[in-house]
Amino acid sequence: MTKRNLKSCSLSGLTDIVQELGLEQYRAAQLFQWLWQKNAREFSQMTNLSKGTRDLLDEKFYIACIGTVEQQRANDNTRKFVLELADSNAVEAVFIPEGRRRTLCISTQVGCALGCKFCATGLLGLKRNMEAWEIASEVQLLLTAGGERITNIVCMGMGEPFLNTEQVFAAIEIISSPTGLAVSQRHTTISTAGVIDGMRQLIASTLKVKLAVSLNFADEALRREMMPVSRKNPLKEVLKLAREYSEKKHMVTFEYVMIGGVNDSLKDASRLLELLRNIPSKINLIPYNEHPGLSFEKPDPKKFTAFHEELLRSRHTVTVRKSKGQDILAGCGQLAGSGSTTKKDT
Ligand code: SF4
Repeated sequence: MTKRNLKSCSLSGLTDIVQELGLEQYRAAQLFQWLWQKNAREFSQMTNLSKGTRDLLDEKFYIACIGTVEQQRANDNTRKFVLELADSNAVEAVFIPEGRRRTLCISTQVGCALGCKFCATGLLGLKRNMEAWEIASEVQLLLTAGGERITNIVCMGMGEPFLNTEQVFAAIEIISSPTGLAVSQRHTTISTAGVIDGMRQLIASTLKVKLAVSLNFADEALRREMMPVSRKNPLKEVLKLAREYSEKKHMVTFEYVMIGGVNDSLKDASRLLELLRNIPSKINLIPYNEHPGLSFEKPDPKKFTAFHEELLRSRHTVTVRKSKGQDILAGCGQLAGSGSTTKKDT
């Protein structure tokens, strides 16, 4: 009989399993805690289950895990992790400590199909979607093996979360569950390049996460050229849904990666403000992080300041994302692991 990965089961899936096995209902929560809070790798570690129950589970299930193959620390203490999945594919996660805020940026796909012209991950293409348990395991690995406290999670690493919506939503349930990894949904952000279907699903869902839209270009023709996703996901509809999200759930954040000589003029700033005029929202300005595989450049600091000052004249809250981890290529848009691994150290 083929064994199933118990970690791929949600809490309600475990409830069905304990029922099928003739165990008490409360065992489902115990199992979930062992898997996610106590990071059990073997059924023999589950000491509050009887030997008979552990043997029964062992007959039918196994516990899968992901591993760290490489870890780099930047001068600013940002840490990039290359994580090996069971099929030897690799994804990257980045831990960014900043004062009391300790953010983990996680991947949701191996590679990315969207091919934004300025993004190193886009060069990889899509290898496959990650499963919910793999996405949640990125967080678990940092909490346990990395020994870190995590205050915030952003789905902003490799991949487009809304092209893997079902698994991302299931991962957030594990991550936020009090019997799981217990990181609040209010401190979790899904960042999308503007995939309309996923935005609609998030609005309709019961999730209470924050939403960020990677806007980057206020000129629609330029946006279509630089972000091919916008050809099938018109900006007008993306902005309409962003506004709906702000009104119904949380204030949306628009990310604007400023690329030298491409979208950094004062005219671009005015266009951006015009686009967002009726949308309660924050704007997060991100100076472009250069990558050896791409020819785009970071913005001139004077132009960046002038753009920023122009935005500050609006009613939006405007933040500037400091470039973190650039010396280890851990910055936004720089994640481009080889996609498969050769084990170095764990
Ligand atoms: S910016 Fe995001 S959506 Fe675009 S290619 Fe990179 S990872 Fe994919």
